[in-house]
Amino acid sequence: MGDTESEGPMSDRIFMSKAHITDAEEEAVRRAIRSGWVAPLGPEVDAFELEVADRVGVKGALALSSGTAALHLALLELGARPGTAVVVSSMTFAASANAVAYTGAEPVFVDSQKTDGNIDPELLFDAIDTLHAEGTEVVAAMTVDLIGRTCDYNTLEAGLAERGVPLLEDAAESLGSSIAGRAAGSFGRAAALSFNGNKIMTTSGGGMLLSNDEQLLERARYLSTQARQPVAWYEHTEIGYNYRLSNILAAIGRAQLGRLDEMIARRRDIRKQYMRAFSGLDVRFLGTADTEGEQIENCWLTGIVLGDSITRSPDDIVASLSEAGIEVRRLWKPMHLQPVFANARAFTNGASEHLFARGLTLPSGSALTDSEVERVITALLNNFESPLSDQATR
Ligand SMILES: *Cc1c(COP(=O)(O)O)cnc(C)c1O
Repeated sequence: MGDTESEGPMSDRIFMSKAHITDAEEEAVRRAIRSGWVAPLGPEVDAFELEVADRVGVKGALALSSGTAALHLALLELGARPGTAVVVSSMTFAASANAVAYTGAEPVFVDSQKTDGNIDPELLFDAIDTLHAEGTEVVAAMTVDLIGRTCDYNTLEAGLAERGVPLLEDAAESLGSSIAGRAAGSFGRAAALSFNGNKIMTTSGGGMLLSNDEQLLERARYLSTQARQPVAWYEHTEIGYNYRLSNILAAIGRAQLGRLDEMIARRRDIRKQYMRAFSGLDVRFLGTADTEGEQIENCWLTGIVLGDSITRSPDDIVASLSEAGIEVRRLWKPMHLQPVFANARAFTNGASEHLFARGLTLPSGSALTDSEVERVITALLNNFESPLSDQATR
């Protein structure tokens, strides 16, 4: 969602989640360049790791070139390899499932809760029990905090512990969110963050692996630098990867982290404007804008599900808004419906399919002005309220 378009140059087009860059980031880049550290290591990287670990409340962090790289290394550390299985939420961006495929392990997809699209814990446990009964080793369960709403980890942790399956949290969309006072990115054996250009905060491209297991992080750090042995020459006993984050990009990340709460507050404010505008309509919001209670969301993207009485199709709405210069997209297409994973196993209940059929994500970037949000609301209201006009001509 927004992976290519949202990174486009300035125009009066309204993007779904455009990077929000200010003088603070520009100053940080200048500082990093002047320090002479123009490399995938350096003081900005070290400080960025400490600051994010501190923010999320985990023991350590490893800054990487992408969130996908963080997932890949975490899976390798959990023992993902050919002949093993990883159960993963079907309702996600392809990166979650691709990381499993890189290791040679079999991705097994699990469907969603109807309410928020997050993984259905009971179905997840069914999947694991079925695989175990067949004698398959399940090396990890990968959950995804969908568009910024943290999964039900109380239930998940208990059920996974009972089954001896480690949890890997894909928190690429949920930095800054929490459930029952515990921060997204702090759950499981390890968690992955993404700092891609369209995420809640960005380094233009980057990611981070978080964990309380310092040994896991050290191993991942070694694999991320071509698995180079600590000797005076280039010595390698394993296949490694080139996955480190550059010092200059880490400087952008530190400036963004300093503004994270402010950016979240703005996204929450935008979500509230949508909620007010659509309150009388047959439209359901995928999360809340609450600032207290169990679930505190970072409001990365505001997702809505159209009720049956809205007769204009999501595709027509996307096309109509695009013509008005506004980027709206359908929710993630579930992995078990993707051609590339056509042969993968899936435990389904219809929930993610429904969310894909009827769901949309709205422009949510913290740099949007009130008048831009108004433009989006007006365009959407026109679509919601003029049902059959252009369907008749199709
Ligand atoms: C963005 C995203 C990723 C991948 O992050 P990159 O930094 O783009 O590699 C992984 N999982 C989910 C759910 C994402 O939204």
